[in-house]
Formats: sequence, C-alpha cells, structure tokens
Amino acid sequence: ISEGFRNAINKIKLKDDEKSLKKALDELKKNLLKADVHFKTVKELIKKVEVETKRKGIGKANFLMALEDALSEILKAPGNFGFIFSTKPPTVVMMTGLQGSGKTTTTAKLAYYLKTFKKKKVLMVAADLQRLAAVEQLKQLAEANGLDIYYDENAKDAVEIAKKGVEFAKEKFYDVVLIDTAGRLAIDEELMNELVRMKEAVKPDEIFYVADSLTGKDAINTAKTFNEKLDITGVILTKYDGDSKGGVALSIAHQVGKPLRFLGTGEKIADLEVFIPDRIVSRLLGAGDIESLVEKTNAIIDEKEAKKISKKIRKGEFNYEDFIKQLEQIKKLGSMKNLLSMIPGMGGMLKQLGDIDLENSDEIKKIKAMVASMTPKERTNPKLLKESASRRRRIAQGAGLSVQEVNRINKQFQNAAKMAKKFAGKKIPNMNEIMNM
Ligand code: GDP
Ligand code: MG
Repeated sequence: ISEGFRNAINKIKLKDDEKSLKKALDELKKNLLKADVHFKTVKELIKKVEVETKRKGIGKANFLMALEDALSEILKAPGNFGFIFSTKPPTVVMMTGLQGSGKTTTTAKLAYYLKTFKKKKVLMVAADLQRLAAVEQLKQLAEANGLDIYYDENAKDAVEIAKKGVEFAKEKFYDVVLIDTAGRLAIDEELMNELVRMKEAVKPDEIFYVADSLTGKDAINTAKTFNEKLDITGVILTKYDGDSKGGVALSIAHQVGKPLRFLGTGEKIADLEVFIPDRIVSRLLGAGDIESLVEKTNAIIDEKEAKKISKKIRKGEFNYEDFIKQLEQIKKLGSMKNLLSMIPGMGGMLKQLGDIDLENSDEIKKIKAMVASMTPKERTNPKLLKESASRRRRIAQGAGLSVQEVNRINKQFQNAAKMAKKFAGKKIPNMNEIMNM
C-alpha cells in the first residue's frame, strides 16, 4: 500500500473550500479501494476524515492530521498487540488458516522471535498431517534456525499429536507451544471440525488466524468464517512485503473485530514484525518508524560487543574478522528493504535500491571467500595485506579471485575503516554523507 498511497497523498492539493475537499476525499477513496481496503472501512474512514477536516478548518495540514487519526483509529481493534504470555505457562497457541497462507513459515518465525527477542523456551508442534511434506518442512525450519520441535512421523491424528505436544511442553517446562495445523484450499467442514476438536483438546490461550495479504478481500471473508467457528484471538497477516497491495492490513481488524497481531514481511526467518497501529500509520504516511528499528537493533546487537567494536573503529583497528561478525548480526535483522522502510524518508527510495540481499550479494560473497583464505593473523590485521604482495597473491588463489580484485577489495576495506574512524565519536553523518560514503 505504502508507495502508491504515499504518492497519492503527496499529490493531493487542497484549497480552503468544500469543493476542493470533496475532490481530495474522492482521490483518497479511489486510492484506498485500489489498495484493496474493504469498502466499508473506506466509507467509514472517508467520513471521519471529512468531518474532522471540516471541524478543524479545510486545509492540507488539517486533512493530513485527520487522516492520520482516522487511520490509527481504524487499525485499533479491541484486543492486544504482539504476543501475550499466559500467566500459567506454557502459553498454547494454535496457528490456523488456509493452505499456503504461511502458517508453517510463521510458526517458525514466531518461535524465532520469541526465542531471540523475548528469551523464551519455545516448542513447535507439527500437527499438519494432511500433507506429507508438512512435518518435514517444519523440521527443516527447526534445524536451520536452532528451534525445538515436537513431531511424530507415524502420527495419524492431528488432535492427538497436538495434545501430546502440549503435554511434552508441560513436562519440559516450555514457555510457549506453537501448534502448526493443516490448511485447505478453501473453508471446509472437515478441517473446521478438526480445528474445533483440537481447540477443545488443548485449550489454547491464543488462536491466530494466518492470512495471506495477497488474497485481498478473500482474506477478510475467510477470517470472518474462522472467527465464527473458532473465536480466534488475533490475525497474522503474511506476505506484507514486495508488491503486496496491503490494504487488507488496514481493514481486517476493523472488519473481523479481532486485532492484527503480527505482520509477515518476507521469506526470511527474521521477517516478522509486531503490529503496532501508530507505527504502521507513520510508515504509511512516509514518516518512518524509528521505534521499530531501535527495538529490532537493540535486541540483536549485544551492547558490550557494540562498544568493543566502536572502540576498535575509533582506534582504526576494525578488521576482517569484525566485519564478518557484524555481517552475521545484520543478517539477524531480516530483509534490508524492511529495515529501510523504517527509516524516515527512506521509504520512497526503496524502489531504486531494490532489496539488498546480504547473503547473495556478489561483493560480500567475494569478501567472505577472501576472509576464508586468510590466516587468522591476516584477518585481524588488514595492514598485512597492504604490505605484502605475496600474501595477496596467495589469498587470491585460495579464494578463486584475481589479484586485482583482492587489491581492490582490500583497498576499499581500508578506506571504509578509515571513513568509519573519521565518523566515530563525531556527530552522526547525515543522509547525504551516508549516501556518498
Ligand atoms: P502454509 O501452507 O500455511 O503452512 O504456508 P507456508 O508456511 O508453507 O508458506 C507458503 C509460502 O508462502 C512459502 O513459500 C513461504 O515462504 C511463503 N511465505 C510465508 N510468509 C511469507 C511472507 O511474509 N512473505 C513472503 N514473501 N512469503 C511468505
Ligand atoms: Mg504448512
């Protein structure tokens, strides 16, 4: 939603007469509908903006303020945000939704989030027995990300395995149990009955409905049905990244009457965000979301380690080993695109930048290959490379790079370290300076 929406809002011209307000409201309405916002939600939103703008006095500033207020009001369904822990652990969560909506991926993302950011002991239970590959998929996610899983390859009954999983979690003092369930391509009696039986058997604290934001209005209708049958406690909207129109995020809580709890914003394990209405509104309006960014980085970056690195940078001692370590830290933050969208003013630049993929960037692959071919001494002392052509030749050979490439990368690395030293301890560079670094 953000990009088109933001552009549209920027283009809105508003004089101080009612005719011009009507035109602006029409323009807003058109864009909201185009972004797949539910028509009932659009109607209510437009009404609120109209009344408020008139009350405050017709003009662009008041119009924008009214829009901001109306957006946050619409986004606030009764209920909670983020994850709520039961007072009596383990907190039991059923992950429900249609096939392909992102249940399994989100189960792993949520487990990772609770483990990494909240330091909880989390168990995932593989209770999707519909598809052969479902258990395997969750197993792989568990293995790749160091998460705990309960499964039984010979299990026949999903309700039974869910029950056993919860019992196991109680015995082993887990804080949270996330039950991944089966989906169908569409709502179906058999599926609903299974979920209702599971609900009775495990008495979950939360039932999350996982919705694919790309399915637009259908996501809202299905969510309503799941809510009627299961009395869900929250919605997680996935695939809220890329070219998603995303208007569903604006209307789903409003239409279903249950709060949106998390947003899935990419395929990587860290691409999950707590849904906080005001922050989303400021991101929609292009004001950035520094709070989310700070929260994310704080939890990931070890303060002691960060201080050590800063000191090294100030002394000009930043080396290849530090670089690789920092790279691993950044990876934990999720996709670069999502991080950028949280920085004020950077939202509009995203299209040009595309998604910088640290893992698959050619340059970073080269640096990694280079570091792998270095001796420990060389890793911690980039000067050794500068001083010795034979070292550079050896490293180039080991890394499958040309000597010229190794020379270039090492020179760049030293320049970057110099630049960092210059800025360390000084004022934070402005965007222009950063872009020119
Ligand atoms: P399930 O059938 O509901 O368990 O769905 P899966 O978890 O298997 O996900 C289906 C597909 O959607 C997979 O290819 C996931 O990688 C992808 N997916 C899930 N969540 C997101 C998301 O937030 N963003 C993107 N881009 N892809 C997602
Ligand atoms: Mg699945």
